[in-house]
Amino acid sequence: MGEFDLIEIIRARTAQGRDDVHLGIGDDAALLMPPAGHELAVCVDTLVEGVHFPVGTAPEDLGWKALAVNLSDLAAMGATPAWALLALTLPAADARYVERFADGFAQLARAHKLALVGGDTTQGPLGVSVTVLGFVPEGRALRRAGARPGDVVCVTGTLGDAAAGLRCLDRGDPQADRLLNAPPGTREYLLARLNRPTPRVAAGLALRGTASACIDVSDGLLADLGHLCAAGGVGAEIDAATLPMSSALLTLFDDAARLAFALAGGDDYELCFSVPPDRMAHATADLARLGCGVTRIGRIVEGDGVRVRDVRGQTLAPPRRGWEHFAA
Ligand code: ADP
Ligand code: MG
Repeated sequence: MGEFDLIEIIRARTAQGRDDVHLGIGDDAALLMPPAGHELAVCVDTLVEGVHFPVGTAPEDLGWKALAVNLSDLAAMGATPAWALLALTLPAADARYVERFADGFAQLARAHKLALVGGDTTQGPLGVSVTVLGFVPEGRALRRAGARPGDVVCVTGTLGDAAAGLRCLDRGDPQADRLLNAPPGTREYLLARLNRPTPRVAAGLALRGTASACIDVSDGLLADLGHLCAAGGVGAEIDAATLPMSSALLTLFDDAARLAFALAGGDDYELCFSVPPDRMAHATADLARLGCGVTRIGRIVEGDGVRVRDVRGQTLAPPRRGWEHFAA
């Protein structure tokens, strides 16, 4: 089993016909034909074992997630995914592992008619780097910049589930006993949110022309909304009581834990966006049509930074900021 056998496993399992792929896996570079009148949206994200995903993560889940986190970035831009590149570093040439990884990747890729057009396969500590490319009509991409004071701040889906799922894997956790006796399905739900995030691609497309700014929540709401605010030269106020939480999160964790997960947990892959109040109903209706939940969580204000208010309107001391590499 050598490098080229592994590449063939990946190629065969991810095959997806697209007319705009003039040359895919197998040459020195892929040849791709973007549609006229569109900009290419391109991003890359790397997942390293023990840093971005726990040791022991199932290969199917890793394949899915490595693609999902990138599709989430395209979603935040309002771009339609088309192509991907996969750089895979493996400790050993394990065919079964690569088959399972490719199956997880392909499951999500197929749902978006996304073609894997190339990559790189190397030996070393387990890590995955996926590059995705998508299209957006020229000038119509969603950006982090653009929020104005008075805009409503919204988030899709629920927050904090993935961080809670990660906590469920922590055997040393003081709440571990309670987690082991969790009602059926709750722990599984949180773990699925950690391992199989659903990128909000359709929601991102629907928000084009409606949202004034958008970002995906990958490092925690506080951190990512903070980026949106910094890009727009504005601040934001969040009402803690309005943060959307799943029933699994509400069942398994106390107030303080779930607030920390929702504000700073990371790995949510929901969209956080601002929208002028007069377009709010429009945004909500469009997302509802897609079956995508959306919650109003606060407002954009003059100034800078993100403040969180409790039910009485008091400002809460922020929990640990979102995930940041190389932070002191
Ligand atoms: P080169 O040496 O010219 O860079 P490689 O031998 O690394 O090419 O790869 C051969 C072909 O297989 C290329 O088309 C490359 O894009 C593709 N490829 C390599 N690894 C992967 C992978 N993990 N996933 C998808 N395509 C891959
Ligand atoms: Mg070459």
